[in-house]
Amino acid sequence: MTIFEKIIAREIPADIVFEDDQCLAFRDIHPQAPVHVLLVPKRVIPRLGVCTWDDATLLGHLLVKAGELATMLGLAESGFRIVINHGANGGETVPHLHLHILGGRALTWPPG
Ligand code: AMP
Repeated sequence: MTIFEKIIAREIPADIVFEDDQCLAFRDIHPQAPVHVLLVPKRVIPRLGVCTWDDATLLGHLLVKAGELATMLGLAESGFRIVINHGANGGETVPHLHLHILGGRALTWPPG
C-alpha cells in the first residue's frame, strides 16, 4: 500500500479538504507554496504515463475537480498551478497518481 492508499483508508492522518466517491484531496505535508493540496484518485493508478483511455473519465473528473478546488481554496483570481510528476526526472516520489494544486504566491517558470 502506498502512503496515499493509507490516507484514503484513514490508516494515517491527513488534513483532508475534499472527498467524493472517486477522489480525495488533502494538504501536502511539505508545502511548496502557501496553498499546496494533493488530489488523488481512490482507484490506484501509479502514474499518468500508464493511464489508458479507460481512465479518461476519471482523469477528466480529477482535472475538473482540481479547478473547482482551486476556486474553493481562493486561488481562482490570483492564479494557481496544477502539477503531475511522472518518474524520477519528473520528481515523482509516491507511485499513486496525484495532482498538486499550488498557489498563494507567484510561481516561477521554468520549474526547477
Ligand atoms: P510527488 O513528489 O509528485 O510524488 O509528490 C508526493 C507528495 O506527497 C510530496 O509533495 C510530499 O510532500 C507529499 N506527501 C508525502 N507524504 C505525505 C503525507 N503523509 N501527507 C501529505 N502529503 C504527503
